[in-house]
Amino acid sequence: MPERFDVIIIGAGPAGYVAAIRCAQLGMKTACVDKWLDGNQQPVLGGTCLNAGCIPSKALLESSEIYEQSLEGYAAHGVDISGVKLDLSAMMARKDKVVAELTQGIAQLFRANGITFCRGHGKLISSRQVSIENGGSQARIIEASHIILAPGSSPVEIPAAPLEGDIIVDSSGALNFTKVPGRLGVIGAGIIGLELGSVWRRLGSEVILLEAQEAFLMMADQQISRDALREFGRQGLDIRLGARVLSSQIKRGKVEVQYEDASGSHQEKVDRLIVAVGRMPNTDKLFTAETGLALNEWGYIHVDDQCRTNLPGVYAIGDVVRGPMLAHKGSREGVMVAELIAGQAASVNYDLIPSVIYTHPEIAWVGKTEQALKAEDIPYRAGVFPFAANGRARALGETTGFIKVLSHAATDRVLGAHIMGPQASELIACATVAMEFGASSEDLALTVFAHPTLSESLHEAALDVEGQAIHVAKIRTKK
Ligand code: FAD
Ligand code: NAD
Repeated sequence: MPERFDVIIIGAGPAGYVAAIRCAQLGMKTACVDKWLDGNQQPVLGGTCLNAGCIPSKALLESSEIYEQSLEGYAAHGVDISGVKLDLSAMMARKDKVVAELTQGIAQLFRANGITFCRGHGKLISSRQVSIENGGSQARIIEASHIILAPGSSPVEIPAAPLEGDIIVDSSGALNFTKVPGRLGVIGAGIIGLELGSVWRRLGSEVILLEAQEAFLMMADQQISRDALREFGRQGLDIRLGARVLSSQIKRGKVEVQYEDASGSHQEKVDRLIVAVGRMPNTDKLFTAETGLALNEWGYIHVDDQCRTNLPGVYAIGDVVRGPMLAHKGSREGVMVAELIAGQAASVNYDLIPSVIYTHPEIAWVGKTEQALKAEDIPYRAGVFPFAANGRARALGETTGFIKVLSHAATDRVLGAHIMGPQASELIACATVAMEFGASSEDLALTVFAHPTLSESLHEAALDVEGQAIHVAKIRTKK
């Protein structure tokens, strides 16, 4: 007889492990299946986010920022440090330690919540059953009245640049270089290209990003995209737009990349090449054809607004379903599905999922962009406040960027907030909370913000919607 659970979850990334914990909190007998192995071939929880995504990339972004600051940033503060040296293996060891501590933390949470972890490859074989292959001759079968699929996503590969050892790599390889590449090529100037390109530029690489689109960061507010392109260029990231990579060859340990743009064909020789052209849902060998699980036209598992698949009792969450490929989106879906299974009312507000790009300056936004409001013909007003006019930003020496608040022209309800600047990743939470509560720009304007803080810039941007920002010198003509 197969072992029985109330819920089985395939995948222990931020979507699956959070779903598992919430199911267990709600009193369900929960099993979670995952196949990820760490560098020592040991099973490890946390999925892409902890092992090869959010956490290791942010650890390296932090370390590389400290390195760059110590090379050139501290002199302006009157702090004279000389003889700064990079110890890349220590930096990588710290990153691995941060990852290990967090993945062990999830294992502890699983034990504390009584979740059964099943190591191996899980496959949906019916609406109630999952088979688990773990190298043995026979698959183990477990069953439950509800199954949640959370298998995540993998990097897209392109024929023009097939991965090759530690020379042509995806994002995972780019988190583990053992030497700083002299010249580093990156295909794709999206989020991964910019974050990992920034890490290696700060550590000393000459970084060239080849981006197929003519436009830069199309999903962000276009005023921010324009300013960010200029700022990243100033930092030394060589971003080439409209660049279509045609082929690449490894010759004597270097990569020759051929690409074309509006001005013709070009070739670049780089020491390492990162392919960062997006991610695709992991549905391979996830289910048998007999289950009849439906995928959508782009290969994602088809789900409704509450993550129900076409099979009764089977849900899918995280990167494997529509919506942004973000850890917090998957985690929120995990909580929603656990609560739905427990018979509670639950939903996800897909309109208010914040996005962050952890470059320097950081870029963050929530809600609609100006270009989306225009396209949808929604009347709006904009308030903008530059960090250069914020006291705390000046004290920090972080004056690049601004905050923009967009509100409905008739109701004043805040429809979007866009930030480029210091601590944008933290500041966006304030705007998100306000928007969740249906705040108007006037509500933000009437709120008292502590001084001196970066968040005062959000306050001033909200005031600027009515032209009432205090710390901007606008020439006013008397009526
Ligand atoms: P995953 O995290 O991919 O986890 C899926 C898990 O399922 C894996 O452990 C996998 O082993 C397991 N699995 C798959 N198939 C099976 C199977 N058949 N049987 C058993 N187990 C299976 N997002 C952010 O929000 N913020 C960031 O800063 C951020 N930075 C990133 C940086 C990088 C370099 C990358 C690559 C991604 C980053 N992301 C970030 C995206 C984020 O990692 C993903 O959105 C998130 O991990 C998706 O969560 P998930 O649980 O759906 O899938
Ligand atoms: P992306 O979609 O952000 O960027 C991919 C870029 O590659 C795009 O600009 C695209 O136009 C370009 N591109 C595609 N094919 C190309 C080609 N053949 N030649 C040149 N350029 C090409 O994807 P990503 O950077 O790979 O990241 C994958 C996902 O991971 C993102 O969608 C994001 O959701 C998630 N992620 C999030 C964070 C974060 O939240 N800070 C960080 C990293 C990754």
